[in-house]
Amino acid sequence: MKAIRRFTVRTVLPDNIAALGRLAGNLRWSWHRPTQQLFERLDPVLWAKSHDPVALLGSFNREQLQALAADAALVEQVQALSADLDRYLSDDRWYQTLGSEAPASIAYFSPEYGISSVLPQYSGGLGILAGDHLKAASDLGVPLIGVGLLYAAGYFKQSLSRDGWQQETYPVLDPDGLPLTLLREADGTPAQVELPLPNERRLLAHIWRADVGRVPLLLLDSNVAGNDEAARHITDRLYGGGGDHRLQQELLLGMGGVKALRIYERLTGTPAPEVFHTNEGHAGFLGVERIRELMDTGLNWHEAQAAGRANTVFTTHTPVPAGIDRFEKLQVEHFFRAGLAPNVPIEKILALGAENYDGGDPTKFNMAVMGLRLAQRANGVAKLHGVVSRGMFSGLFPGFDTQEVPIASVTNGVHVPTWVDARIAALAKAKFGTESVVARQWDKVYDVDDEEIWNLRRELRSTLIDDVRRRLRSSWKKRGATDAELAWTKNVLDPDVLTIGFARRVPTYKRLTLMLRDPARLKALLLHKEHPIQLVIAGKSHPADEQGKRMIQDLVRFTDDPAIRHRIVFLPNYDIAMARTLFPGCDVWLNNPLRPLEACGTSGMKAAINGGLNLSVLDGWWDEMYDGDNGWAIPTANPSTTSGTDSVVSPEERDDIEAAALYDLLENQVAPRFYGEAAEGAAAAGPSAPVAPSDRLPHQWIAMIRHTLANLGPAVSAERMVEDYVRQLYTPACAAGRDARAADFAVARDFAAWITRVRAAWPDVSVEHVDSLGVSDNPQIGDPLRVNAYVRLGKLSPSDVCVEVAHGQVGEGDELDQTGFDALSFKEDLGEGRFLFSGEVMIDRSGSFGYTVRVLPLHDSMAAKAELGLVANAN
Ligand SMILES: *Cc1c(COP(=O)(O)O)cnc(C)c1O
Repeated sequence: MKAIRRFTVRTVLPDNIAALGRLAGNLRWSWHRPTQQLFERLDPVLWAKSHDPVALLGSFNREQLQALAADAALVEQVQALSADLDRYLSDDRWYQTLGSEAPASIAYFSPEYGISSVLPQYSGGLGILAGDHLKAASDLGVPLIGVGLLYAAGYFKQSLSRDGWQQETYPVLDPDGLPLTLLREADGTPAQVELPLPNERRLLAHIWRADVGRVPLLLLDSNVAGNDEAARHITDRLYGGGGDHRLQQELLLGMGGVKALRIYERLTGTPAPEVFHTNEGHAGFLGVERIRELMDTGLNWHEAQAAGRANTVFTTHTPVPAGIDRFEKLQVEHFFRAGLAPNVPIEKILALGAENYDGGDPTKFNMAVMGLRLAQRANGVAKLHGVVSRGMFSGLFPGFDTQEVPIASVTNGVHVPTWVDARIAALAKAKFGTESVVARQWDKVYDVDDEEIWNLRRELRSTLIDDVRRRLRSSWKKRGATDAELAWTKNVLDPDVLTIGFARRVPTYKRLTLMLRDPARLKALLLHKEHPIQLVIAGKSHPADEQGKRMIQDLVRFTDDPAIRHRIVFLPNYDIAMARTLFPGCDVWLNNPLRPLEACGTSGMKAAINGGLNLSVLDGWWDEMYDGDNGWAIPTANPSTTSGTDSVVSPEERDDIEAAALYDLLENQVAPRFYGEAAEGAAAAGPSAPVAPSDRLPHQWIAMIRHTLANLGPAVSAERMVEDYVRQLYTPACAAGRDARAADFAVARDFAAWITRVRAAWPDVSVEHVDSLGVSDNPQIGDPLRVNAYVRLGKLSPSDVCVEVAHGQVGEGDELDQTGFDALSFKEDLGEGRFLFSGEVMIDRSGSFGYTVRVLPLHDSMAAKAELGLVANAN
């Protein structure tokens, strides 16, 4: 029989263990080992199966609960951990040492969050990063509020058909079984966000709150009774449909998200955010909603935009055009005509996403472009990605050199307590009395001897292998195999063989199948007599990406070969739970994207903090953190940093060259070093050789592990990342926002009026004539160069502009390189809008020296010279 209705009965816990409910309800347990150990103690079998405290508590009947409540030691543990949680939630932390210039509250918007496997609301790196951002913010005491959507089915679960084709299922989640609480009005009714939709329809959403340590995360859910069927499905799946479905998700996230925040402020007394962080373009409509709010208070469009931009931060996450959302302009217009922002001129909103630059499509509305136009501060997610992003968006800043495009970079990081293996933390605690890795004392690893490190690595590898065998058997059963056919899976992988991991989403640029370029060569590496390697591979393809699915199938078919299937496996359904065993268990983490298309990548960081060595193309984070001793760099056939496509070799040749380089590295450097001095002993003793005595240990390899932990540990941590955001972006954005708002928005009004005036006058601004004095026939370093610039400012005055000399080395085609800038001083009003500016430049280098002069708008409220995209260069 099927039930016609269902509801979840919440467990009522006896008073003295009631705090278990709090401990289960706050996701801090997901990175707090003592709390996990408490839940494990309640029912080790069930815990091992689900790692889900809410489900665990829900599984107990009354008698079991009474028995737990009668266990004095347990009660004491519950109360101690509850008190510990209280302290964690209220103690002063790093952020509380900052002055009052740090924002009182920060809103962080993201379309996905990967926090724990009990809340599967992520598809890949972007979501995991957002989850790690919230967790690190919580640990540091940063007053962040997360905003996102609650997807009824999250992202899909992946399995394989018999012939290796990806199968997708979407298990529907029951919000009542998740660690969420519904935000309610004082009268008990659910708090509700409402947006108008075309054809007199409306979109309602409830607001669920998850607690990520100290950080509340608000998730909007459109599956509510007041919605029609179509509106109920808007939050059905993460990145589910295209077109209208996606657009409505993003309108709900951005505009609905700000409304949800306002409700949350009203109900809880939380201060209004002083900074808004748009994590990738998907959430960009938050800027439009904030403009709508400001225009409701009487500001005009320009003033509202200036005030909104001042304290908005935009992070771009991808150099791959397909990763950027673009809608039809008409489609966006259609939705705004329904009255989403009735007081805001629609043509202004449409202009925010317009691709009105070379190569742009006038029919499209581009979410990343809107993100940049609505944020005064923007960043990419690694140094190289900053360079690539400045190139990618340089069309928005015509007349400026690429390096002046105002997009900075903050390199991503990973939340160490989540991603470091419990045994590493435990070893640190046993040896040093503190989980030193978590306490940031990474250099303590130099005090651990080789044997201990090597034994621990083998243990982690063995745990992974057990997990791989279990997953492989279960996958083969789903593929239709019987137990009798699966005896071989008991011997898959070997705990003494060099283990290499590769797991990530499967877009083309990540090149899942590069390793298959020369199958015979890979086979030889897997089966090498002295230096074998083994590979663990995983990854989901976007459901609509046939090419990705074909790559998975090619790989799975390769791994199905009985000659090598004990050395290479593909594991379906890559997710957080798998990742937490996979990263620590791999000796080497492989990454071979098409440079420079990997914005940052974080999986290699998670491997590194567990003592894994990276073997990667110099892309994303590895480009800045590879130092020659912490892993290996796979050479790139096309070292261009500005685009992934302007190859000097064909894509086919490029794959051949880079695959060959990968095989060479594995064969000649990685594998020999791993087996090191232990090679003869271990090989002679066969595959199940006991751990080698210490004089046989691969000391060089272990030295690389130590070096990796000590140096990369602090650099890749999400705490470093969040501190960078606070210092470099949140605090300056907060200052600009406060400034803009002071005295009834006086500065924002002034800035907006000035921008309007400057834009109107700019066509008449030019450099008319430049002359220079003081250069002898034989110029030398240190000689001064006197520059007089005669500029035409039209209706502007000298105080509206900055006149600069740009000087540097002159390359081919007279391009300036290593450019420096010196401002010239206003000297004389020549009448009729003409002015003389002059100053001295020091000739600071030998060789070919060149200079030019330019005029830029200048205002105290500007954060970057290129911000308005206005410049008049001498020609
Ligand atoms: C870390 C992680 C990712 C992101 O990895 P990239 O290196 O950025 O591709 C994706 N999925 C899971 C489950 C992860 O843990």
